[in-house]
Amino acid sequence: MALKEILPFWLAKKLKGAYQKLSGLALRGQNYYCPYCNNSFRKLRPGGIDLPVIYEKQIIGAGYRLNDVCPRCNSLDRDRLIYLYLTLKTNIMTAPLKVFHVAPEGCIRAMLSVLPNITYEAGMKYHQGFYYDKNTTILDISKLEFEDDTFDVIICNHVLEHIEGDLKAIGELYRVLKPGGWAILQVPVSRVLETTFEDPAVRTPEEREKIFGQFDHVRIYGQDYPKRLENRGFIVARHNPYRDKWPAELDRFAINPEEDIFIAYK
Ligand SMILES: [Zn+2]
Repeated sequence: MALKEILPFWLAKKLKGAYQKLSGLALRGQNYYCPYCNNSFRKLRPGGIDLPVIYEKQIIGAGYRLNDVCPRCNSLDRDRLIYLYLTLKTNIMTAPLKVFHVAPEGCIRAMLSVLPNITYEAGMKYHQGFYYDKNTTILDISKLEFEDDTFDVIICNHVLEHIEGDLKAIGELYRVLKPGGWAILQVPVSRVLETTFEDPAVRTPEEREKIFGQFDHVRIYGQDYPKRLENRGFIVARHNPYRDKWPAELDRFAINPEEDIFIAYK
């Protein structure tokens, strides 16, 4: 049983905070920068796991990464990619926008939810053993209880690969987005699979880890991923900070140079 399941929430959070502060101090340096907690580090913590399928299928956005997790605030490479997109390419820091954040990452939420211009809504599926705070709504992404055309922005970062029947969820995200709105819909994508691979017979965590690359993934997205979004109405743009030469010291953010960002417009 994990420590966090037997300790009261506030105590577990305090202990974790103290540990992170100390480990963050030990790794201080100048090589890498985390924009969420505004700290610089000699190195970040490694993240992800090595599995044969991840290499065989060349799944971008999965697998072991040496400098991945911010030692101070736990931001991941994928979260820092989103930071760069939001701050360099959108008006989210200043414009009055209604934002829906699915399965909210703490670092992204901490940044957006305090912005005075943002009306912020967070929601996620119920998971046993996971802490929820009062600001996160428990919801089913395949059956959202929001009205049509509710949000200007949706952030859904590495969620759809966990959802059985993702096309329904994509349709729901499209439905609740306002016309003219945009969504960041990140998933791990195989570089070599033309077509998304799923198999409903693969059900156990052990099988899913072996075949899809993570115990709770239900498919491997292929190069047809943007088409899946377009089939539900979105117009998709695919960007890459390195390829598109975004004006930032990209190496310091320790993002994955191969991870593209998918922006879906309604
Ligand atoms: Zn950080």
